[in-house]
Amino acid sequence: MSLKKRYLMTPGPTPVPAEILLSMAKPIIHHRTAEFEETVKEARAGLQYIFNTKNEVLLFASSGTGAMESSIVNCFSAGDSVIVARNGKFGDREKQIAETYGLEVIDLEYAWDEVVKTEDIARELAANPAVRGVIVTQSETSTGVLNPIKEIAEVVRAYDETIMIVDSITGIGAVACETDDWGLDVVMTGSQKGLMLPPGLAAVSVSEKAWRAVERSTLPKFYFDWKKYRKSIDKNTTPFTPALTLIQGLNEALKLMQEEGRENLIERHSLLAEATRQGVEALGLKLFAPPEGRGSAVTPVWTPEGIPSGKIVKIMKEDYGVTITNGQDDYKDRIFRIGHLGYFGMFDIITTLTALEMALTKLDYDFEQGVSIKAAESVFLAART
Ligand SMILES: *Cc1c(COP(=O)(O)O)cnc(C)c1O
Repeated sequence: MSLKKRYLMTPGPTPVPAEILLSMAKPIIHHRTAEFEETVKEARAGLQYIFNTKNEVLLFASSGTGAMESSIVNCFSAGDSVIVARNGKFGDREKQIAETYGLEVIDLEYAWDEVVKTEDIARELAANPAVRGVIVTQSETSTGVLNPIKEIAEVVRAYDETIMIVDSITGIGAVACETDDWGLDVVMTGSQKGLMLPPGLAAVSVSEKAWRAVERSTLPKFYFDWKKYRKSIDKNTTPFTPALTLIQGLNEALKLMQEEGRENLIERHSLLAEATRQGVEALGLKLFAPPEGRGSAVTPVWTPEGIPSGKIVKIMKEDYGVTITNGQDDYKDRIFRIGHLGYFGMFDIITTLTALEMALTKLDYDFEQGVSIKAAESVFLAART
């Protein structure tokens, strides 16, 4: 008997709404045309809205990691010092990329369930005034931790030659990210996260202060040379063949996001996250991220004693069609992660909690059936949705 309908509850890739899928079903056009220039023009304005910025937002045919690498090679030179504050897998990746290109990394390492501390960054900057960049992940997808980007940026702002680089790949579209008001110099995201698109497109906002860093940078670059993209985007085009299908889809996504509005978008994600948290806590499970730093993109949860989280993930997927993800690195089989970033509504959460309860029942975990649904329902009812 198969009663399966598929649900993708992961923090990237995320589900793509039908309107967006359809917008990408059009015949391929050539990119050196007025038609494509119109497409890019629309994308530029929509991205500025979503990033809360007047900066130009550059687009690359790459996954999110391409955007991360591009910000290192464009903003720095070999031997430059940067502070990397890391409390999860993606922060680790920032450090690896910086070291790959010969930067001196001042390594602020935290436990995965800790939040980056602004005072540590203030202290390191005061002690090392030659630091050229501070690199922080806003929403750590491996842990669900939300780092205090606004407060950190306030500290970095005082240093004229130091730029603030933010991996907001699962932040944009899910939590507040006020690029201009907070003074964020480089902010990046990827298509398969909050933008509700298939993987393959990355976007980076670059401030005037960051462009000055670009002028100083001597690291080699070709495909990811931001200056080439700036020159092209001025003429509503890209230096190389763009992921034009994805950019068409992006415009549909940006339209949906603008219709919903930035504030509502953030409010919806915070409600989905709260309902998920209340639901799993009602089951007697413990949340991984600390209360002072919980994001809205993904909810990581400690697996019950004696049950490897991989078993829960497997039963939910194979028996019930609901895909969530395991923990990464040291937390594999110790936590599971429920994604709710992008195209999600309240019943996706209810469905996922039901599948979780059924999987836990099969694994002989002791709890009262239905408690997580009741808890999540209460959150949605209280919000008068
Ligand atoms: C997904 C993600 C990335 C980029 O990963 P890709 O697989 O290269 O798209 C970077 N940082 C964070 C926080 C992410 O969630």
